[in-house]
Amino acid sequence: MYDVTLIPGDGIGPEITKSIREIIEATGVKINWEIVNAGEGVMDQYGTPLPEEVLESVKKNKVALKGPITTPVGSGFRSVNVAIRQKLDLYVNLRPAKTMKGAPTKFENLDVVIFRENTEGLYAGIEHMVGDDAAESIKIITRKASERIVRAAFEYAKENNRKKVTAVHKANILKLSDGLFKAVAEEVAKDYPEIEFDNKIVDNMCMQLVQYPENYDVLVLPNLYGDIVSDLCAGLIGGLGLTPGANLNDELAVFEAVHGSAPDIAGENKANPIALLLSACMMLNHLGEKEAASAIEEAVAAILAEGKVLTGDLGGNASTTEITAEIIKKVKENL
Ligand code: NAD
Repeated sequence: MYDVTLIPGDGIGPEITKSIREIIEATGVKINWEIVNAGEGVMDQYGTPLPEEVLESVKKNKVALKGPITTPVGSGFRSVNVAIRQKLDLYVNLRPAKTMKGAPTKFENLDVVIFRENTEGLYAGIEHMVGDDAAESIKIITRKASERIVRAAFEYAKENNRKKVTAVHKANILKLSDGLFKAVAEEVAKDYPEIEFDNKIVDNMCMQLVQYPENYDVLVLPNLYGDIVSDLCAGLIGGLGLTPGANLNDELAVFEAVHGSAPDIAGENKANPIALLLSACMMLNHLGEKEAASAIEEAVAAILAEGKVLTGDLGGNASTTEITAEIIKKVKENL
């Protein structure tokens, strides 16, 4: 029995976390979910969208599964998603993106793993107005944060038999901040002579990923570029409904999909649970439950390849409950 924190989130979060719990239950892995809530829904009760008990629960259990949480645009509270990563110092945002047979995409041969720096950059949240007609946002890049994310990318490459790490930046324009990130990446790369290293300017990187995806393997990026490039990669493999992720440090792990709370389809039983489900597979692997993770991954691969029971984002018309039932059926066959 594992103790795991569950943050259902809002929008489609409650629907897809329910689906994931049912699918994990079908694998026979026993999880004691400690449910804690964050976001707008808890503001009245706690006076904050991120109650201390959420952070305490993750610190205690060390592992969490998190649904998406809505962030008001413009005014209102700052992103709870970003705050969780910063307050727990979850410095790695790991986002694998791999083409799957049957997924609705014109692109082939993408198999990249994104290491996005998760604690600083433009997401440090240091912004102010300069009078009424100008605004300033400050981008922070430090040697410490750059070094640990680049090292995490190389260590992952080493452990997972990946051949190449590419550092992505805009150091031609942002000579000091991105220049420091690039210089640190070059220094760290020297400790891993067996792994090929190169660097790319972020705009070129976007074009390269669309035209020559097979040339890329592990990517390491500062926060904002990592956020944008991971949505690009999500699009290349068939959409946000398929792209998992994890926020990690050396002690804690919070697993969540790349996508947001999808308010346009929330509560309609239309959301695709696969992205969060594949995040849950990363969690099961992290817990050492490799057989259960493989059984789910194979079930998802079979569903995509068959193309019969798919949610709307994948070109089908199945509901969240229908695809969940089909996954459970296939998981049971695989075990
Ligand atoms: P989004 O990812 O929620 O949605 C973008 C589009 O993709 C929408 O059309 C949506 O319906 C679709 N989509 C996303 N996930 C899907 C799924 N699982 N199944 C089917 N379709 C899916 O992005 P957005 O609309 O820009 O953001 C909505 C809210 O989510 C915002 O408040 C944003 O701040 C927040 N957000 C949260 C996280 C997080 O919790 N980590 C991440 C990104 C955005």
